[in-house]
Amino acid sequence: MSSTVSEVKRGRKESHVWDHYIKEPLDSGHYTAKCHYCIQTWSRGRPEILKSHLALYCKEVPLAIKSEYMEMLAIGSTSTNRKQKLDTDSSAAEIDADKKDRIDQALIRYFVCCGIPFSTVNHPYFIDFVQSLCFAYNPPKRSSLSTTILNKETAIVLKKIKEELKYEEDLTLGNLF
Ligand SMILES: [Zn+2]
Repeated sequence: MSSTVSEVKRGRKESHVWDHYIKEPLDSGHYTAKCHYCIQTWSRGRPEILKSHLALYCKEVPLAIKSEYMEMLAIGSTSTNRKQKLDTDSSAAEIDADKKDRIDQALIRYFVCCGIPFSTVNHPYFIDFVQSLCFAYNPPKRSSLSTTILNKETAIVLKKIKEELKYEEDLTLGNLF
């Protein structure tokens, strides 16, 4: 058999997150992951989860890397959603990605701040209520509400806190001179 040009090109941005993990291939084509910095392991490493770990949960990761991934988490998903928007533009029944992001964010704030159990997001009455307001919106599954969307919101809030602190620091320095 002669060699073909089927070799997959490396270096997609997505895969950079793996620089911080030790990966072991699985038969399924996925990888197990072990954090470089702490003892956490995953039986199947997904980039989304691995990014969240660095940004929010890892206690040993260097601060510079943590900040980088927090930034990515807070702003990252909007850019990937833009592609989706082009595909769905033609269908009037679809909701655009930016709007869905905005609704997801409002939803998670309401759930977290009022202490409402995430399990109720898939209750038929809740879905009926939401879709009677906006038919095209599908509430997220309980699992993505408690992981992806919550992580993103946490990153946004932490980023804002950091900016506020930076602002106050600048003010304090400003007062000195
Ligand atoms: Zn870790």
